[in-house]
Amino acid sequence: MHPFKYHRPSNVNDAVQLAAKGVDHKLLAGGQSLVQAMKLRLASPSDIIDLSEVPDLAGIKVSGSEVSVGAMTRHRAVANSAEVRKAIPALAALAAQIGDRQVRAMGTLGGALAHNDPAADYPAAVLGLGATIVTNKRKIAADDFFKGLYETALAQGELITAVTFPVPRRAAYMKFKNQASRFAIVGVFVAETPGGVRVAVTGAGSCAFRQKDMEKALSAKFSPDSVAGVKQSASGLNTDLHASAEYRAHLVTVMAKRAVEAALK
Ligand SMILES: Cc1cc2nc3c(=O)[nH]c(=O)nc-3n(C[C@H](O)[C@H](O)[C@H](O)COP(=O)(O)OP(=O)(O)OC[C@H]3O[C@@H](n4cnc5c(N)ncnc54)[C@H](O)[C@@H]3O)c2cc1C
Repeated sequence: MHPFKYHRPSNVNDAVQLAAKGVDHKLLAGGQSLVQAMKLRLASPSDIIDLSEVPDLAGIKVSGSEVSVGAMTRHRAVANSAEVRKAIPALAALAAQIGDRQVRAMGTLGGALAHNDPAADYPAAVLGLGATIVTNKRKIAADDFFKGLYETALAQGELITAVTFPVPRRAAYMKFKNQASRFAIVGVFVAETPGGVRVAVTGAGSCAFRQKDMEKALSAKFSPDSVAGVKQSASGLNTDLHASAEYRAHLVTVMAKRAVEAALK
């Protein structure tokens, strides 16, 4: 690991000002991805800006139609929140399936989204629910946020402050997990929202994406049988030692069907 300067700001303004000072400055949330990248020398920031002492960034607020989760909210807090479990049970259940206890105790929503690992779970919920990513500069619709492999719409130094999730009529997330890391080999989030049905897939491609054919089929009839016959093309999907593109394509349909079944329970 290269030497770096360590900063611990106590408010968002100071964090943003520090982050704007250099292209090699990196925000630190729970360190679950960043520290590994630094150890492997895939990232060599000159300055680390630790967000753990910025109180405004952590916490959950639930209004009638929205759940707002601060960027520094740990996965464990979302999984255990009685308010989230009541308003969007699928979101709490998704958080409860991330990694293991240690990862859930440290990993954060903001870090997961900014890192945008292709197999991460949260992007499926953000895209599937049509959430809004709030930064120090603007509000970004989920549909405009995930740009590609580890790539997002965030500008250099831009800081996610919170994510606002609309409360759906019903929703569920199903994932076929990697048995070692528990990352999604394929995960599918299905939601019936006031704005329509949304189906978001993670783990299968370079980043989370919407499955529009399934959305169309479920809009006509919200039933497991509606997606059972909808095939996902394997073209452009990931192939690695865990699963081929063709197997992932098959899993998209299987997970979508199970997610619809779960949403109807
Ligand atoms: C063993 C293991 C198993 C895991 N299993 C799963 C799993 O099953 N499912 C899953 O979804 N994830 C999994 N993860 C990922 C984990 O849950 C974290 O969400 C992810 O690693 C991000 O970590 P972090 O929040 O600590 O962010 P960090 O590692 O601190 O930061 C990650 C990146 O985000 C940037 N960043 C952090 N916060 C902000 C912010 N507020 N605004 C802008 N940029 C920011 C950082 O600069 C950095 O580039 C696993 C991780 C490990 C180590």
